[in-house]
Amino acid sequence: MNQKINQEFPHEISLYIKREDLLHPIISGNKFRKLKYNLEEAKKQNKKVLLTFGGAFSNHIVAVSAAGKEFGFHAIGIIRGDELSNKIAENPSLLKAQQLGMQFEFVTREQYRLKDSYEFMESLSNKYGDFYIIPEGGTNEWAIKGCEEILTESDFEFDYICCAVGTGGTISGLINSSDSNQKIIGFSSLKGDFLQNDIAKFANKQNWSVNCDYHFGGYGKVTDELIDFINTFNLNHKIPLDPIYTGKMMFGVFDLIAKGYFPKQSKILTIHTGGLQGIAGMNNLLQKKGKTTIVI
Ligand SMILES: *Cc1c(COP(=O)(O)O)cnc(C)c1O
Repeated sequence: MNQKINQEFPHEISLYIKREDLLHPIISGNKFRKLKYNLEEAKKQNKKVLLTFGGAFSNHIVAVSAAGKEFGFHAIGIIRGDELSNKIAENPSLLKAQQLGMQFEFVTREQYRLKDSYEFMESLSNKYGDFYIIPEGGTNEWAIKGCEEILTESDFEFDYICCAVGTGGTISGLINSSDSNQKIIGFSSLKGDFLQNDIAKFANKQNWSVNCDYHFGGYGKVTDELIDFINTFNLNHKIPLDPIYTGKMMFGVFDLIAKGYFPKQSKILTIHTGGLQGIAGMNNLLQKKGKTTIVI
């Protein structure tokens, strides 16, 4: 569903948001798209177990645990940070995943870095037997096929499509199903431009770019300015944004509009990729620091 952002923008720009956050009560936004064909494939291969990887507040971890419960798989999560093992109760994302039946294995950051190595994979096979593996963040060919279903032909009327970028799977799907006259702009939620190669690997067109100016210090980092923006946006438009991805993307779009980046009368579609489950964890951190929290 596309929703118009009712606000006067300079240069007669019109802004819309695709509410992918409303697709499913738990498996929000792009994680739903990314899992769809992976779950079909796992069923086809007769797998009973899904195994995946993620960090402390990962939307992907929560999505896989919910998908496991809903579609009849046992879910195993390899979690970065062994210090988290006795802090599940304080971590809303991990607590949710656990309640949905996910089994955790906590590993050190060093072990996690080597998670794709042959040795680590072999140790997982020895421990857990046969499983269907979903990469960190969920990005693989099946995920991109799912993300190609975000845009439909009626979205061809937009000049620009804007989305948040983590691993690059979502933007790759958007690029593949876009019209070549449209421009796809990704807003990186993390520092560094190593993403571009990953996107180029999956994307079938060159009508895209990644903006790295709105990461706010890096992945999972926020500023008072960003939190204020998210709260004001929600107050004005009754649409919650998450602090890790969609808040940064929307801040970037507003800033670029103000700076005159988009030509006159541009029609812009932003993608709400979900991630709202992460707000609770972020608010805990903000509260500990005595900062303003995100209003939901
Ligand atoms: C995971 C996630 C992203 C990033 O998607 P990628 O396909 O990894 O680039 C963007 N927004 C939200 C809300 C997410 O949870």
